[in-house]
Amino acid sequence: MTATPAKSHGRKSITTSLQPRDLMEETKLKDAWVAKIITLFPEAFPGVLGASLTGKALKDGLWALETIDLRIFGEGKHRNVDDTPYGGGAGMVLRADVVAKALDFASKRTPADRKTWPIVYLSPRGTPFTQAKAQEWSQTEGITLLCGRFEGVDQRVLDEYEIEEVSLGDFVLTGGEIAAQAMLDATVRLQDSVLGNADSTQEESHSNGLLEHPQYTRPAEFRGRTVPEVLTSGDHGKIATWRQQQSEALTQERRPDLWNKANDGD
Ligand code: SAH
Repeated sequence: MTATPAKSHGRKSITTSLQPRDLMEETKLKDAWVAKIITLFPEAFPGVLGASLTGKALKDGLWALETIDLRIFGEGKHRNVDDTPYGGGAGMVLRADVVAKALDFASKRTPADRKTWPIVYLSPRGTPFTQAKAQEWSQTEGITLLCGRFEGVDQRVLDEYEIEEVSLGDFVLTGGEIAAQAMLDATVRLQDSVLGNADSTQEESHSNGLLEHPQYTRPAEFRGRTVPEVLTSGDHGKIATWRQQQSEALTQERRPDLWNKANDGD
């Protein structure tokens, strides 16, 4: 097979290639959390992950991104990756054998244990992604994300590789790439040293089962609207109580599902 350099980001470059020599040169970044993305659109990465804190962390080698171009594992001269669904119906389905080759490639030098290195298919049929999932993934050594396209992926490869299906929400996207970026953003920012202030991840929405309290900054008056007095009182105890009350009220009002869950254990 021909070797196609894939886009690679982070401290050292990692190439996606099937040449053994290049494989030898593939560098496993020491201590860096690694995301391997199997996609037909490697050019879509790092996308928004290249901006702001996640982008800086990527540049600094705190995490690394390796895109694996599904196309190079395709069949024949045209490198076909998809075919019509058995049983008929609209659209095309990504072939199990083609996806399997990409997964095998991605699995080189990654732990086989799924707890240490999850393999995930982005899918509207999957378990909804949550902050708890982001927490869980941030504690792994890395992750392999399979981005679907068209009507999705042949079921047999998902079964064969015991792939976890995770959904960004109850809507249908054109492909898994946006979902992958959203989930990576949520995961990477939880890693030690990626966010400047670790406290901010402990107090924000969803980390404690509640939505965050409202935030205010200068100017003190905006179009006749002032800032809640307690916030300028300097009384930290009072401020903490006020924020907690706001947080609880907001959660009850907007997300009774979360509120009930937070109070289940009581
Ligand atoms: N026919 C499929 C939808 C295919 S959408 C179905 O009805 O279930 C094409 C691809 O986009 C999927 O393979 C998946 O990788 C991605 N995708 C679409 N919606 C998604 C969502 N809500 N979360 C995660 N990935 C999604």
